[in-house]
This record gives sequence, structure tokens and C-alpha cells, in this order.
Amino acid sequence: MTFDYDLFVIGGGSGGVRAARIASGEYGARVGLAEESRLGGTCVIRGCVPKKLMVFASNAPLMAEEMRGYGWTQADTGHFSWDIFREKLDAELNRLEQVYKSGQEKAGVDLYFQRATLVDHHTVELADGTRKTAKYILIAAGGRPSVPDIPGKELGLISDQIFLLDKLPRRILLIGGGFIACEFATIMNGMGVETVLAYRGDAVLRGFDRQARDMASQQLTDMGVDLRLGVSPAKLEKDGDRIAVTFDDGVTDHFDAVFFATGRAPYTKGLGLENTGVRLKGNGAIEVDEWSQTSVPSIFAVGDVTDRINLTPVAIREGHSFADTIFGSKPRKVSHENVASAVYMRPHELGSVGLTEEQAKERGDVDVYATVFRPMRSMFAGSDARMMMKLLVDPDTDKVLGCHIFGPEAGEMIQLAAIPITMGATKAQFDATMAVHPTAAEELVTMRQPTLRYRKPKDGE
Ligand code: NDP
Repeated sequence: MTFDYDLFVIGGGSGGVRAARIASGEYGARVGLAEESRLGGTCVIRGCVPKKLMVFASNAPLMAEEMRGYGWTQADTGHFSWDIFREKLDAELNRLEQVYKSGQEKAGVDLYFQRATLVDHHTVELADGTRKTAKYILIAAGGRPSVPDIPGKELGLISDQIFLLDKLPRRILLIGGGFIACEFATIMNGMGVETVLAYRGDAVLRGFDRQARDMASQQLTDMGVDLRLGVSPAKLEKDGDRIAVTFDDGVTDHFDAVFFATGRAPYTKGLGLENTGVRLKGNGAIEVDEWSQTSVPSIFAVGDVTDRINLTPVAIREGHSFADTIFGSKPRKVSHENVASAVYMRPHELGSVGLTEEQAKERGDVDVYATVFRPMRSMFAGSDARMMMKLLVDPDTDKVLGCHIFGPEAGEMIQLAAIPITMGATKAQFDATMAVHPTAAEELVTMRQPTLRYRKPKDGE
């Protein structure tokens, strides 16, 4: 049977464009790609990239405050213009979208800016009714924000919309305690918006190291975010220009905007998967094996739509490995172990790789090397903000199992720490590394004594 394409990719986000570019540009496959929105996907258009630029923008008041602490008596930020920022942001996203588009075109990928759905194991149908056949189909449709089913939920915003606001709200409620809620609480607060964050748990960032979670929760409060733990909104109602939110503890409060940051769900609905027999997991994610192959041999899936680790670099690696395996005769699996991540809060970010202290204790014996201190730069300026470095070490093998950094530029630091940890480095090898002085990161190679030697009770103890 002859096909229109060797590969048809559904979704032009991080995973999809990488797979298409490598399959076509490097291995000469005939590739078509359909994208219903803008090339670049969530990360580039409505996620990581615009978010990080907003983090930079929102940092100005902190920088000015710090500089006043260094003697710059007039240091001030002046007025933040959302209009100017938005215009620059739009231009930057347009530029990036063009970069992605020309990358695909140069690689010889045929682009279809329409929605595509699956018709059978080798056929997709585009929104205009045309059908394309392909030897392989790659689903890289990503995820979509999910919102709790409460009365008035349609009055709330989701992350896609926050970058498109005409003006900044005066008072905002963020709901959730994950990556997005913490980052946007930091951003909004830094941009001068009165910010309330309501999270149902007892410390933000569930799943991260507990000590780091407590420090992150404390930092939000110290920065002036009104952090309300142990509550969830029960209903939203319009009240003139504002939104009245009633929480599950009975309290009602008013906001100019409400932003749901309550997780994301795989975007599989309406994809025509029922025509193919591709198996789904309970939450609607596409089930794949370690080669990203679905239950249908000609159909593969990468990225958030598979709900493995929902981070851009993981989707890119999965897409690249798929192309290497299928079109480059270089079989490659992706390791989902020791994937580092960062939460971009201010002044201190949270960087994390490997096991948390809680996971390490669950696993067995662990030596904990941790230090909490005030970093030189902000301390001199008069800040009391504390930084944390933690290494978790297996006492039997001396292997470093995890690293957690809560501090300025922790995202940059954890990327570097992830290299030796991925290589299986031991604590002795960390210790043998000469320190760079004076830095905060030198603590990673100078912690000599464990702060805790945890020995897991044996069965029956
Ligand atoms: P997360 O999964 O990180 O957090 C979701 C939050 O919403 C959790 O605090 C969760 O609470 C809470 N929640 C879920 N359902 C409800 C509900 N019904 N009522 C009240 N609260 C609820 O998702 P995000 O939306 O923050 O981010 C989505 C994904 O995007 C992340 O998982 C991450 O993969 C990615 N991302 C990565 C970033 C980075 O790398 N820096 C930045 C932003 C996003 P609980 O913990 O109790 O379940």
C-alpha cells in the first residue's frame, strides 16, 4: 500500500515539531503535520516562554529593593506598563512562531494549519474534509487546562488567557498550589496586583520535597501573597464588574479576576481515537510503551497527551527518540528517571532532581545533607530570605539520590547538578569537586556531615 506520507504528526508543539523535523530533515521521511492553533504549542505560545518573560518583568521591585539595600538611595521601578510588555511579548511570540515555522519548512515538512482527527490506523482527516494517509501517525496533541466542576466556573480564567489580558486586574484569586499557581502568584504579586492564592492542601507544590514546600509557602506569604491553605472555592458569581467567590469554609470574597491553575488534562477528546482502538488510561491519556508506541502498531504518541512527565524537554526527547527509532534506524528509549524541574518563584526558585527526602525514606536508609542559610547578596541588602540546599545520599552505595535547591537561580543550578546525578555520582565525588568561592552553589560540594542519618525500620521493628 502506498501512503501520502511516511509520517503524519498531529500537533505542532514541542514533541510534534521535533519529531517532524528530525524524521524529515535528518532522515528524509515524507512528513505532514497538522496544528489547529499556532506552531510552538503550549510551551512557546501560552506557557513556559511567556511565563518566564513575565517572571523577569515581575522581578523589578525586588531588584530595586535590593539595590536600595546596597546604597542606591533612589533605586525605584517607576510604573509597570502592561501595554508595553504585552506588545513586546506578542512580537516575541510571533518571532518564535516564525522560527518554528521556517524550521519545519526547511526540513521539508508539509504544514496544515487545521485540526486533524484519526479515521483509521493510517488515515487522518483535516478540518476541510481532506484525508491524508501515512505509514505512521504520531499524536502529539498535548494537554489542556482542567477546571473543577463548580458553579460559575466559566467566570474564571485559565492559563491560556492570562497572557492575553487587556489590563492587569487590581485583585486576583489564584486557585491551586502547583507549578502554575505558585509561579503566577509570584508574577502577579511582583507586578503590583493584590494576589490571593487558595490551595486545598497544607503546603504548596505537593510532590516536591517537604522542606522545600514549606519554604516556598513561607516565601509566598513573605512576599505579600495572601496564601490561604486548606480551602477551595465552592462557587463563583458575577457581582457587578467583580467576581464573588464563596469558599468551602463559607467565606465569600470579591476579586477582579479568578484564575484556575488546577492542573492539566491530556487533550484526547474528539481526536477520533475511537476509530482506531488506541487504548487510553483512566484519565484519558494515551497508553504507550517505552518506545512511545500505542496499542495500534502504526500509531505513536509523545508528550503531555501520554501523561508521563509533562514537561517540555521530556516531550522533545520523546519526539526525537521516536524519529531516531522509526526513521533513523537508531533505536532510542527515553529514561524518565532523574528528570530535573524548576518552579520559577521569586526571590527564590525551587530546583529539584531525583528523590525527595520523603521518597528516599520510603525507599530505605538515607543520609540527608541539608543546609539553610541567608545568601550573601540578599543578606547584605537586609533581607532575611533563607536558601536551602539538600542532597540525599544512599549510605550503602554513597550514590546521590536526589538534590533540592531553594534559592536564587535554583533552576540554573539544578540543571548542572542533574548532570552528575544522572551519571550516578557519589557523595565522595561531589566532595572531591573543588568549590567555586564565593557562590551559593559551593554548598553542594562542602556539606560534610549529614544533618540526619535515617535508617528505615526493618519489618517487625
Ligand atoms: P499541577 O499539577 O502542578 O498542580 C495542580 C494544582 O491544582 C495542585 O495544587 C492540585 O492540588 C490543585 N487542584 C487540582 N484539582 C483541584 C480541584 N478540583 N480543586 C482545587 N484544587 C485542585 O498543575 P498546574 O496547573 O500548576 O500545571 C500543569 C502542568 O504544567 C504541571 O504539572 C507541569 O507539568 C507543567 N508546568 C511546568 C512548569 C515548569 O516546569 N516550571 C510551569 C508550569 C506548568 P493537589 O496538589 O492537592 O492535587
